Amino acid sequence: MALVTMRQLLDEAAKGNYGVGAFNVNNLEQVQAIMEAARETESPVIIQASRGARKYANDRFLYHLMEAAAEVYPEISVALHQDHGNSPETCKSAIDLGFTSVMMDGSLMDDGKTPADFEYNVRVTREVVEMAHEVGVTVEGELGTLGGIEDGVGSGEVHLTDPDQAVEFVERTGVDALAVAIGTSHGAYKFTSEPDRDVLAMNIIEEINERLPTTHLVMHGSSSVPKELVDTINRYGGEIRPTFGVPVREIQEGIKHGVRKVNVDTDLRLAATGAIRKAFAEDPSEFDPRYYLKPARAAMQEVVRARMEAFGQAGHARDYDPISLHDMAARYREQGHQLTTV
Ligand SMILES: [Zn+2]
Repeated sequence: MALVTMRQLLDEAAKGNYGVGAFNVNNLEQVQAIMEAARETESPVIIQASRGARKYANDRFLYHLMEAAAEVYPEISVALHQDHGNSPETCKSAIDLGFTSVMMDGSLMDDGKTPADFEYNVRVTREVVEMAHEVGVTVEGELGTLGGIEDGVGSGEVHLTDPDQAVEFVERTGVDALAVAIGTSHGAYKFTSEPDRDVLAMNIIEEINERLPTTHLVMHGSSSVPKELVDTINRYGGEIRPTFGVPVREIQEGIKHGVRKVNVDTDLRLAATGAIRKAFAEDPSEFDPRYYLKPARAAMQEVVRARMEAFGQAGHARDYDPISLHDMAARYREQGHQLTTV
């Protein structure tokens, strides 16, 4: 099995100067689509589950799906990550379940909606870092808030990340990875026109990376919302309003400046929905779920493959042997929370 910690996976990405897609999963077809794309492109990968996903699929089902991915694709380095943990308790339950990485999103209170203050964020994130590093698990924190709401998470308000605060936050918490808010949102409706440099604050990424060169930066809400996926949905009876996502070239710009983890969820949802609508329209007499789930899975795989190639992770699946959680824990004990391995 090639379960790896996210810390190692991102350290390697930093060495190789590429980004790694973190794709959300809720069910079997999503896990298969992502892993097939990883095999096809020989990519290391992060599969992540939100609280909503854990509730939808049930923890045990979801964990075993993710574990099966590591077992069936032994040549692929895969990190299992808790997306948007709302409290230390949620992160603890993910660690107990066997995830190799957790996100403590202390930018929001534990209702996942109300923006939290800086001191609260530092306190809960530090608590998770202490608990996670003890057993070798990686921690992602978030500073600043994204727009949009997905799976009930988000305040809907945008607060861009302040680089001075980012430095203080990382020093006080010891997080391995930091999600930064640069003006993007969760969900499909990110921008009403193609975002340019004034809308997406890429300069924040550049500045934080200069000041925190060993902290891996994370871009949330980084679906590109390709027009052809939206068009397919609408051609077969869907009603998605005109919308724009984060252009792949902007993500690539971020990767040049320390972005190592790129969260993509919406694009897979769009791909699956378009494929299912198309299948329903083409043969209304079919009723075997495999008839529409197979093209949905293939459409998701295609999106993931394209992102893996664009982010530069393709071809890097066999670059390294996984460091065990036990050995990672020893490394944190020796070096302190902020590793200097990058
Ligand atoms: Zn997010």
